[in-house]
Amino acid sequence: MIVHAELTCMNCGYEMGDVEGPKGASVKELVFLPVHQDDKLVIDRRGRVQCPHCHGRVLPQGVTPVRRPLDPEQLYEAKIDGTVTRGLMY
Ligand SMILES: [Zn+2]
Repeated sequence: MIVHAELTCMNCGYEMGDVEGPKGASVKELVFLPVHQDDKLVIDRRGRVQCPHCHGRVLPQGVTPVRRPLDPEQLYEAKIDGTVTRGLMY
């Protein structure tokens, strides 16, 4: 099952964006859709996502199953052409 979640910092409330991937997958396997264009997933030694602002712990919120998973290659093409929006993929 593919699931979708929003990543939010538990410490400062910073919204990083959305992620999608197989349920139970490691962070590296997830497709990341940042809210702020240049944000990257910062992963600590324990495989947890860190907040780019306060280095607090970021946890997935609102995990829901996805019927049509994102294709990472299509996302990449959409970014090159500059037309990517978060709503476009659904
Ligand atoms: Zn934070």
